[in-house]
Parts: sequence; C-alpha cells; structure tokens
Amino acid sequence: MENQIIILRLGHRLPRDERISTHVCLVARAFGASGVFYSGQHDSSLESSVSSIVKNLGGNFSISYEKNYSNLIKKLKNDGFSVVHLTMYGIPLPEKLDKVKSNKKLLVIVGAEQVPKNVYELADFNIAITNQPHSEVAALAVFLDRISDGYYLNNIGFKDAKISIKPNEMGKQIIR
Ligand code: SAM
Repeated sequence: MENQIIILRLGHRLPRDERISTHVCLVARAFGASGVFYSGQHDSSLESSVSSIVKNLGGNFSISYEKNYSNLIKKLKNDGFSVVHLTMYGIPLPEKLDKVKSNKKLLVIVGAEQVPKNVYELADFNIAITNQPHSEVAALAVFLDRISDGYYLNNIGFKDAKISIKPNEMGKQIIR
C-alpha cells in the first residue's frame, strides 16, 4: 500500500482498556499501519506485548506513548499528515473515501472515553463507519481495509517474521 498510516489511540485507561488497546495495535499492524501512538495512562505492559508480537511475527511497526496528543496531532499535520478521526458522529466513509485515499500520509485517531471537542476540530475528516456506536477496533479494521482496497487480507506474513502461519484448510501450521 502506498499510504503511510499512523494511528493515535486516545485516552488509554488502566486496567479497563488493556485488551482493547492491544487489539487496536494488532489491527493497526495487521492492516498495514506503521505504528501507534497512545495517550492517557502510560502502560509499559501494552508496549512490551506489542513489541513482542512485532519481534516474532515481523513487520515494521512501532508503539509510543504521547502524553500531549494535541501537540502530536499538530506536529504530524505540519509534517504533511492528513488527520482522520473515526467517530460515529462523522460522515459515512463511502462519501469521503476517495478524498481520504488521495492523502499519502494519514494520522487515524480512535477514542476510548469521550473524545474531546478539539479532536473533532483538529481533524481534517471526521469519519463514521456506520453512524451506530460500536468499537474502535471494528472501526479501525473496516477503515484500514477500505483504504487499502482489501490489500492486507492476502498478507500471510511479514518478510522479517521469525514465525509465520501456513494457511490451512484445517488445523494449525506454524513455520519457524
Ligand atoms: N463515548 C465515546 C464518545 O462519545 O466519543 C465513544 C466511545 S467508543 C466505544 C470508542 C471509539 O470507537 C470512538 O472514539 C471511535 O473512535 C470508535 N467508534 C465507535 N463507533 C464508531 C463508528 N460508528 N464509527 C467510527 N468510529 C467509531
């Protein structure tokens, strides 16, 4: 995929978001993003579990904590990133897909708790994956899949993986 995509996960709460923030990172990596920034509470165990997945299953993917998410958004905008905030209050993705896709560098923001108003204002696009409430993991997966035209559905392994999976009709086969 040509686009460079970075994710910002807002408002990580311990212990409540441990699993869901990990899943945000796993979806981001599997569907072609180059890294995740997260704000809220610092969580070294989130960082080490994501780093361990990358170490074993490969991919060029980073995770970093960012205390001041507004500064990060502004900095990445200055670096040429367009900002997409995923929210059920936004415009349905099909209406904006071509416009969003035309940006080569994207910062994609997902929330946890109530998302502050300035995020809506800093975003270039407030995008809904349906205007119904669901989950940041689902919203991110659908968004990344649509933006990449399903490219990563065929990703059976990253080049630098120590471990990869051989697709199988039945059972599990791991290649080391
Ligand atoms: N109550 C929070 C609020 O008012 O902002 C949202 C909580 S929701 C569980 C967490 C995140 O999931 C949202 O911030 C958003 O990024 C994402 N999300 C949930 N439903 C969505 C939808 N229909 N479209 C896009 N993103 C969605």
